[in-house]
Amino acid sequence: MQKRIKEKMTTLVLIIMLIHPKVFTQCRCNFIDTLAKYDAGNNKELEAQLQKSVDLILDRNHCDIRIKVRLTDQVANMAAVCEQNGDKYIYVNPKYYRCARDSLSEFEMLGPLCHEIGHHVLGHPDDKTGSLPYKELDADYYCGYYMHEIGAKKYEALRAIRFLGSDHDRRTHPNKIVRMNSIIAGYNRAKYD
Ligand SMILES: [Zn+2]
Repeated sequence: MQKRIKEKMTTLVLIIMLIHPKVFTQCRCNFIDTLAKYDAGNNKELEAQLQKSVDLILDRNHCDIRIKVRLTDQVANMAAVCEQNGDKYIYVNPKYYRCARDSLSEFEMLGPLCHEIGHHVLGHPDDKTGSLPYKELDADYYCGYYMHEIGAKKYEALRAIRFLGSDHDRRTHPNKIVRMNSIIAGYNRAKYD
């Protein structure tokens, strides 16, 4: 009896995972047990590594701003956040990051960081209106530009959005084909600058 209830619950959880758009777009690495194993990761080490990556992207692109990385489960995946005192952050959900890292190289994972840096450089978090399609495309353009400047090949700049982006337009984010075109435009701009 208990076994049957357990089986039913598992099926229910799997159905919710499949139909819930937020879960589906956050990460394509499937099921909840896959995510659970990442709880024990060393977050201090990951935070330091991501901070180093952000500093490198800023340095190579001559961006004279300070952006700190914070690992937190307050965000579903990654977000550019401006705190009340004006400090700029990139919030990263460590489970999401490790999940995506299963399918993307460390270098390819710099794409999403470049995108979040783009949001900060454009001042998007300051206007408090949240994610909007035009802002996402602008940040994608910067992502393409920055990825070129740190030596990424075009396919490396596109890999994260190809893997993590949505097939359909959403209220806040355009579909991944449109987003990839924006990354390519930024990448090509850097190439000819
Ligand atoms: Zn964004």
